[in-house]
Amino acid sequence: MWSHDHQQFIVHQLPALNDNYIYIIQARAHPACIIIDPAEAGPVEQACRQYGLHPTHIINTHHHWDHTGANLALKQMFGCRIIGHASDAERIPGIDIMVSSEEPPVIDGLDIVILDVPGHTIGHMAIVIDDALFCGDTLFGAGCGRLFEGSYAQMWRSLQCLAALPDGTQVYCAHEYTLANLAFAASIDKNNAALQKRIREDECKRRQGRPTIPSTIRLEKQTNPFLRPLADDFCREYAAHHHIEHTPLAVFRDIRQRKDRW
Ligand SMILES: [Zn+2]
Repeated sequence: MWSHDHQQFIVHQLPALNDNYIYIIQARAHPACIIIDPAEAGPVEQACRQYGLHPTHIINTHHHWDHTGANLALKQMFGCRIIGHASDAERIPGIDIMVSSEEPPVIDGLDIVILDVPGHTIGHMAIVIDDALFCGDTLFGAGCGRLFEGSYAQMWRSLQCLAALPDGTQVYCAHEYTLANLAFAASIDKNNAALQKRIREDECKRRQGRPTIPSTIRLEKQTNPFLRPLADDFCREYAAHHHIEHTPLAVFRDIRQRKDRW
């Protein structure tokens, strides 16, 4: 487990399953303690016992089992309440509180903003608390989620919404997929010095057994192939090279389809 200091809270990062991360957000001045996307109960139970944490809420970014699998077990164990997107109320196990960008959850001690980010699933949401972003399977280190339910246009809008957050925002993704994503990124973005630097640094972190997550919005905008269509010069050169329409959406769609086949 790794812990990251923020002004109002601490983020505890727990590896789970093969490559998931579960996050526990511990408010500093209040008893609020939130579990985000509990894939399995064991690591959460162990961390809570070891550090004396008392979870008050679970928030699921979306309905997939590797983000909700331990909802019921943890609810029973800690008596915490489960928060999910209103449009996924039927698919979030044990849901108590339904939220959306217009009706974010109110939890004392944490200023929570919800962003509706459909694409990977229709009811997918991202959670922003001050300078921390919990983006589930929408944005990954140098990647983005597969489009299981939404359209390319929806996912592109969702990614733009995340890219509009302040550059220093810490990006807490739900999976450690970064190195594989970087290998793909290098294959389509050959003259990007920031990308080459990130590959060296993230390979070093993994060799040392450390996570590549969190990253930052700044780093994702510089190196993530699914945010690169935001840069005019990249977009123009990519569209010309691959003989496709010169719009960010067309370039995003082509890169996503290429990654699906990669
Ligand atoms: Zn998912």
